[in-house]
Amino acid sequence: MRKYGILQLGTITNKEITLPAKTRYSKQREIIYHNLLNRHDHPTAEQIYQDLKQDYPHLSMGTVYRNLGYLVDHHMIRKLDFGEQVVHYDGNTNDHYHFICKKCHHIYDIHHDHHDALSSSLQSMVEHHIDFIDLAMLGTCKNCMEKEKEIS
Ligand SMILES: [Zn+2]
Ligand SMILES: [Zn+2]
Repeated sequence: MRKYGILQLGTITNKEITLPAKTRYSKQREIIYHNLLNRHDHPTAEQIYQDLKQDYPHLSMGTVYRNLGYLVDHHMIRKLDFGEQVVHYDGNTNDHYHFICKKCHHIYDIHHDHHDALSSSLQSMVEHHIDFIDLAMLGTCKNCMEKEKEIS
């Protein structure tokens, strides 16, 4: 059986690891979840891993990936795929959209006061049932525009 470096935390036994994911209490998952809830930078799995590695040196990249997948599947976090090589994660599951700067790659949260109106307008345009709207805007952010102004 594969050794889990973080076993020393004392909350996960080999017996628990073989239980189905739903009933398994995972300290690692909680650590990863809380890391994501406490930041607003929409990190990648790699960034979460790098951040946690300092406090939990035995945590593996595979564990981070696996637990992020679990949290996404259980709608506890959002997975953001902007067609880049990497996906980002968001601890904020409330209705909001994203603006991605193509220059500095910063991801901004965009809150929309008319979310319900937008949802029903989009729903009226399609024959399919919409469960969730994941809207991403791509462009140049205000910080990058200011920098460009200074240079020119
Ligand atoms: Zn920018
Ligand atoms: Zn967000």
